[in-house]
This record gives sequence, structure tokens and C-alpha cells, in this order.
Amino acid sequence: MKIWLKSLITLMAIGAIAACGGEKSSSGEIAEQKQYKWKLVTSWPKNFPGLGTAPENFAKLVNDMSNGRLSIKVYGAGEIVPGFEVFDAVSQGTAQMGHAGAYYWKGKMPASPIFTALPFGLNAQETNGWLHYGGGIELWRELYKPFGVIPFAGGNTGVQSAGWFKKEIKTVDDLKGLKIRIPGLGGEVMKKLGAVPVALTGGELFTSLQSGAIDATEWVGPYNDLAFGFYKVTDHYYASGWHEPGAMLEFTVNEKAFNELPKDLQTIIEVATRAVNQDMLDEYTARNQTALETLKNKHGIEAKTLPPEVMKALKQASEEVIAEQIAADPTFAKIMKSYSAFQQKVAAYHKISEVEYYNNREL
Ligand code: CA
Repeated sequence: MKIWLKSLITLMAIGAIAACGGEKSSSGEIAEQKQYKWKLVTSWPKNFPGLGTAPENFAKLVNDMSNGRLSIKVYGAGEIVPGFEVFDAVSQGTAQMGHAGAYYWKGKMPASPIFTALPFGLNAQETNGWLHYGGGIELWRELYKPFGVIPFAGGNTGVQSAGWFKKEIKTVDDLKGLKIRIPGLGGEVMKKLGAVPVALTGGELFTSLQSGAIDATEWVGPYNDLAFGFYKVTDHYYASGWHEPGAMLEFTVNEKAFNELPKDLQTIIEVATRAVNQDMLDEYTARNQTALETLKNKHGIEAKTLPPEVMKALKQASEEVIAEQIAADPTFAKIMKSYSAFQQKVAAYHKISEVEYYNNREL
């Protein structure tokens, strides 16, 4: 009975649209009347490889899937708002969407870095598992709810590089006084070991290194780091990432704008973010290795690993930083409960599956 009623209502609605002169497309379908034009602001230089092309790919997918009913224009950092004001712009409705990293908003929400990456935390594959099948996205949406912003996974770079340094890092003492660009909790960890973490957007990094305003920077990995040319102004490249073991980007949507969309366009947004989230990881997996080869063969850069003693100190400091965050912020504590439980279980499984396989492959 209910189903029958629903069908009748649908039929009546279609009849009403036809009676109002709903236009027919060439394929004979009733064309949806309303068109939406959205703005999407980002924290990246326009069309920057990977980070900047992901939102462009997203906009194209949405446009194609919606047959142009939802067209989204992508803006680089600084075109409408600076890179660090993307979240506010989406919250206030200056733009309907944003593409950035959740850890940029840690001043506003101390728990937000959990949704980019945690030092010695989940990798990309595990982050996706926690987010979509382990309760992560529900916690993320709860965190952004007071700001009227809905987050979606927006890509993942995989394990990032420890960074580019002007001097060699042999012991923990070499970190003392080191001015390094490193956002999120990685920066807090560096501070604990005596370094001076600096927050800068990507576009400022090369000139800051060149002028000596900073001594070191982390950015992403071979693919993106090559594009910025850090090898021209530093001598030491450490590949062994610890601070962002699977950095997830985010799409953010203004809640009010999202709720105004018909259900099919909402689903298109959801599906397109999922597609782009995976696509970025695929791209980085393929292009990091090519870029690493170019860095070595064309520019003579040897990727190094940090000494075990330094890595151990970073791990210990990371545990301290996370414990402090848990003690300071109940929301951080609540989200970490879910995250840590997931990490503990997935690590036990990956120890006998992924790790075992990687080791065996080298035999
Ligand atoms: Ca990074």
C-alpha cells in the first residue's frame, strides 16, 4: 500500500512537472530545471600536481555526472581567500566547498589533525578503512557540525617524506633550534625535541628555504617536492616519513548549500569525493617513484633515512604529544579512542599480512 502510494505521488509529481512545461532534452527525458553554480576554494596553488588537480578532477566528475546541473569552479589559494582561510570561507558560505587538510584548523579544533594524519598513526589504506568502515567519518562530521561544514575524504598522498634539510641530521641534537616548516602534530613533536616549527603554505616554501627564513621543510613526497624544486636550495633529503604516514586531504561542503541540493546531486558529490579520494592515492603511488628516479638521476639527490636514534626520539615524543592532546581536549580523547582501537587491531592484522608480504617480497 505504501509503495503504491509512493508510486502514485511520483507519477503525480512527474505530471505536474510536465504540465508546468518541463523541458525535454534531446533524449526525451525531462530536464531538471534548477542549475547550481558553486565555488570551491583550496589551500593549494591552482592546478598544483595532485593536490590542486584533485579538486579540478572532482569538479569535472560532478559536472559530467550531473549533466551540468551542478557546475563547480575551483579557485587556487589566494584567489578568493588565502589557503589557511578555506574552512572559514566554507563555514560562512563565501564558497560552497573547500579542498584542504583538516590539520590546518587545529587552532579552531585541536582534534582536527587526527583527520589528516597522526605521527606513527594509520597509513592511507588503514585511514580509509577507519573512516568509511570504522566510525571515523561519523566522528569527523560531528566535529565540524557546529561550524555548518560537512567533511568528506579528499585524497591521500600515502606516506610522506620527512623533508628537506640544509644540514645533515645525525643526532637528536641536530634538531635543536632548527626552523622547520611542519604543520599538525608533527610540528608539536619537533618542538618537543627543540626544533622551531613554522606554519607556511606550500607556495611560500621555496623562497623561505632560499632566503634562509627556514632551515628545513617537509611538504609531501618526491612527486610534489620535485615540482617545488627544493633540491635546488637544500642538500639533504630524508624520505623516511613518520609525521604523516598517510596524509588525507579533505573536501568540505557548506551544510546549508548541501541540504538545498536534490538527493541525486548529494549522492553525486558523495560518490565523486570517494572516487577522487582513491584516485589521488593511485596517482601518488605511480608518480612518487618516477619523481624519486628523476631526483636521483637528473639532480643527484640521494634519498636518506633518519638515524634510528632520531626516529626513536621522534616516536617517543609523538606518544607524549598525543597523550597531552588527549588530556587537554575531551573531543580529541573521544576520537582517539576510536582511532587507537582501530590502529591496534589493524596493526595486528597488517603485521602478518602487509608487513610480512613486503618483507617476503624482498627475499
Ligand atoms: Ca606534509
